[in-house]
Amino acid sequence: MVLYESTRGGNEKITSAEAIKRGIAPDGGLYVPCKFHKLNLKEIKDLVDMTYPERAVAILRHFLDDFSEEELIDCVNSAYSHKFTHVKVAPVVELNESLFLLELWHGPTCAFKDMALQILPHLLVKSMKKTGEKSKVIILTATSGDTGKAALEGFADVEGTGIIVFYPDNGVSEIQKYQMITQTGENVKVFGVRGNFDDTQTGVKRIFTDKELISFMEARNLKFSSANSINWGRLAPQIVYYFSAYADLIKENRIAAGDKINFVVPTGNFGNILAGFYAAKMGLPVNRLVCASNDNNILTDFIRTGCYDKRREFIKTVSPSMDILISSNLERLLYEVTNHDGKKVSQWMNELYVSGSYDIGQKNAKEIKKYFWAGWSNQDETLKTIECVYSDYKYVLDTHTAVAVDVYDKYVITTGDLTPSVVISTASPFKFNNSVCKALFGENKIADKSEFELLELLSKECDLPIPAGLAGLDKKEVLHKSVCDKEGMKDAVIQNLLEEE
Ligand SMILES: *Cc1c(COP(=O)(O)O)cnc(C)c1O
Repeated sequence: MVLYESTRGGNEKITSAEAIKRGIAPDGGLYVPCKFHKLNLKEIKDLVDMTYPERAVAILRHFLDDFSEEELIDCVNSAYSHKFTHVKVAPVVELNESLFLLELWHGPTCAFKDMALQILPHLLVKSMKKTGEKSKVIILTATSGDTGKAALEGFADVEGTGIIVFYPDNGVSEIQKYQMITQTGENVKVFGVRGNFDDTQTGVKRIFTDKELISFMEARNLKFSSANSINWGRLAPQIVYYFSAYADLIKENRIAAGDKINFVVPTGNFGNILAGFYAAKMGLPVNRLVCASNDNNILTDFIRTGCYDKRREFIKTVSPSMDILISSNLERLLYEVTNHDGKKVSQWMNELYVSGSYDIGQKNAKEIKKYFWAGWSNQDETLKTIECVYSDYKYVLDTHTAVAVDVYDKYVITTGDLTPSVVISTASPFKFNNSVCKALFGENKIADKSEFELLELLSKECDLPIPAGLAGLDKKEVLHKSVCDKEGMKDAVIQNLLEEE
């Protein structure tokens, strides 16, 4: 049986259902599997002729082995059978013979977070039942834009759950904001926060460990859990699409089974790329994981030097979902490279909290470089990449994916490595249409146009359909108008829970 332990040490080992239910460990650490099942080449080849939901079961069963096969099938079917607009769920698109895009944005909110957040509620509800949990779970989430909406879509009206989402009031696009503040559902609540994403995430982390709030909750038979990418139930489903992309490349005769490939990942909280690392640990033939950052290039520095230093300016960019200075999931990578040294990890996280930086030393840094290469793209380069890729291939990238394509170019120039590479495409270009239209049509053509008018413009000029989840958004009723200070988040939660009574 696969058991889970905290990245901050301790002896407690728990089932996947328990880990999913808790979200975060009591010591502030993240849950990780004690061991990884390794797939052999035959098991990987077996994926080739499967559908996406079947591939998901084939991978998830090695992590969630306290779930029955029927339960897993039930979860993956609820998540991936009809909510995605593409039959393949996560199709691979070829740009040229060595560069491919894995499109992860055909779900209801047009960004890759649907890949995990469509399935998490089902895993969570089953985890609650399995662990005999009687209290109602309240999902508490900080979002830099995409998580919030994806979590709301996933949890809306799911029995036995409630969801509260905080977003940085000036840190998300108009469309992202409208997606959230128009969210329907009896059990949903959305708040803007005056601050940036890190303020918002820090506020949520504090609430999770606030003693007063925890007893307030216990008295009412409520329990917090998280839909952030720190929850194991969100990370595990992300491992699936790395295998799926590989299987599709075999199916299309682009690679032979066993060939190594690169993955290039636009990175923020380090959840997506960490899933790629776990896939490699499970035996997926991966040559390099390329970690792509925007101007908030803290991970580029970290992977190159081994020193993580958040004492720097926070920059608002055209790829807001990657505007992050504390990449929570990096902690899980540190746990692996130190061979599960929870004491060390705990010490580094404490240094980060107290002084704003930590250094993992040359030996660990070298180990990370065996798997990872890192680079970043500034905003001009990102927009230029959107323009170039459209003119070369007639393919429209969103800003986050464009960061990754630009970093891929830099990777090839620096290393000369022409191994087939898959760029993880994390959002529909319609979702970040302001910057995309600016890159494609110039500042003048978009002046005075709202993001909603830009949907039409992008659709017409590039001959692409507006995704169903975004069409008509501005006509929907605004249901969530509250904005609070970062110091007021706890009160907002209490207020909301009291109203629910
Ligand atoms: C969340 C997000 C990312 C970053 O993913 P992480 O798992 O946080 O590294 C990149 N692009 C988009 C569009 C996102 O929504």
